[in-house]
Amino acid sequence: MIDAQLAAATSDIVIGLAVAVPVVVVAGGVALGMRLRGRGTKGRVPSGEVASDAPSDLELARSAEGTRIAEEEEEAPLLEAGAAPPVEAEPAPPAEPASYRSRLGKARGLLSGYLGAVRSKGKIDGATWDDLEEALIRADVGVGATDALLGDLRARVKSGAIAGPDALVDALKGDLVAMLSTADAALALPGSGRHDGTDGPSVDVWLFVGVNGVGKTTTVGKVASRMSASGTKVLLAAGDTFRAAAGEQLSMWASRADADIVRGSEGGDPSSVVYDAVQRAASNGYAVVLADTAGRLHNKVNLIEELKKIRRIADRPPGRVVEVLLVLDATTGQNGLTQAKVFLEAVEVSGVVLTKLDGTAKGGIVVAIQRELGLPVKLVGLGEGVGDLIEFDPAAFVDALF
Ligand code: GDP
Repeated sequence: MIDAQLAAATSDIVIGLAVAVPVVVVAGGVALGMRLRGRGTKGRVPSGEVASDAPSDLELARSAEGTRIAEEEEEAPLLEAGAAPPVEAEPAPPAEPASYRSRLGKARGLLSGYLGAVRSKGKIDGATWDDLEEALIRADVGVGATDALLGDLRARVKSGAIAGPDALVDALKGDLVAMLSTADAALALPGSGRHDGTDGPSVDVWLFVGVNGVGKTTTVGKVASRMSASGTKVLLAAGDTFRAAAGEQLSMWASRADADIVRGSEGGDPSSVVYDAVQRAASNGYAVVLADTAGRLHNKVNLIEELKKIRRIADRPPGRVVEVLLVLDATTGQNGLTQAKVFLEAVEVSGVVLTKLDGTAKGGIVVAIQRELGLPVKLVGLGEGVGDLIEFDPAAFVDALF
């Protein structure tokens, strides 16, 4: 019944054969195809001038956490808040290969002042703890994680296990790496046990969800380029039928990635687009469908229902949803966590793609995401270019920050 409806609804869907262009080979970073795993579905506060009687950064950050809970009660505004206006301009290729060290300058700059002050002292005193607390809060590590980290360090200083400021900073660095290393960040890449014994070809589906403007379409394009470059036949599904330009933008990325794309009509049913993409993928030997989705509908309920439906349709044989990646914009800091919860209500998210880490000092948001959402950060965006998406590497990340 649903099949028949979907088949009828797909009559306006076109498959666009992308113009073959040379694949842009990605330099630098960790190759997307390196780590495989089996099938798995499973404030900074305002930085402007603050009057002397204004609340401190820490107070603002703590009260921001309170408002976040209140904000969750609201529906439509939640989906609007913090979403940067979509920009359709063609992404410029980076001047240098993306690496944590080369792209995390802003976040490192913020921390270095505080850590320098801590290290420059001969002893650990009250000001040391104030500096560390302010550094972590301003980097958007979050109040909960900051309290946990500093509580543990205080105990170790008290017991004599940490002696001196240098050892303290090194211990903090080690604790951050440990905190970030607990989640399984491996991606369900093609070839990692896709065939589970069912008859017929199966198609892996990756869904990309998140608020408008966070970088979903760009991320789909970057992932497609990576997969294409490693020899995987990729089909893109332009599931953001809500925004006309999203399909155009994805087509551009498809051309660049030498991938094909299935598009629907503007305002059409996104589930139909994904359904059609899976069918075409199965009959034409594509290994993976990468599906973009809309980040904003008329209200939260519509969005949740729409995403549930897309996931359900995508997961029906021959389709199989192996990744649901929640794309978050690092520059929105803690606000992004509020938005994230809407998507967690709708679909079982397998991991986070954190974009625009190159443009923010709030690199600590990685810690808050993993701790508060309980989700692994799997990929990070370090720029607008095709090579600026790399797998999350806790040690390299923390090293670059310090
Ligand atoms: P969508 O609405 O979620 O699909 O977002 P888009 O993919 O259209 O991206 C919105 C803007 O963010 C575009 O200008 C992208 O080039 C930019 N963008 C995406 N990822 C990154 C990133 O990692 N770093 C930077 N600096 N910009 C990014």
